[in-house]
Amino acid sequence: MAHTRRNYDTQPYWEGCDQRELRIARCADCHTWIHFPRGVCPNCWSDDVRHEAVAGDGQVVTFSRPRVPDGAPPMVTALVALDAADGVRVLGRLEGAEPDAIRVGMPVSLDWHEEDGQLVPQFVPSGGAPA
Ligand SMILES: [Zn+2]
Repeated sequence: MAHTRRNYDTQPYWEGCDQRELRIARCADCHTWIHFPRGVCPNCWSDDVRHEAVAGDGQVVTFSRPRVPDGAPPMVTALVALDAADGVRVLGRLEGAEPDAIRVGMPVSLDWHEEDGQLVPQFVPSGGAPA
């Protein structure tokens, strides 16, 4: 998929994913978090952009729940605001949540799944899946 494309700026992000570590780019000059990674800070134009490993806890900002045939498990995609990186929103699948229970502001934790041979972030409800 297009979002798994690697280039010079995104390489540290994907190398983090390979090790199940969420690395978010951050400007070394003004400390703005930058996601998706790019080589220049959008706030101060510094090119001193580094990657920091952050915790993957956050809250659902918005989510999509496509219609699926009866009986098929719905695949929910969520945009998650990270608690550890102000302003950073990570897109990923939301697994293990009762579809009717998903709401904006729901606390979620980072998990990983493999997509086309690449580990990518996904999220699960904080505190484990509902019984
Ligand atoms: Zn900056």
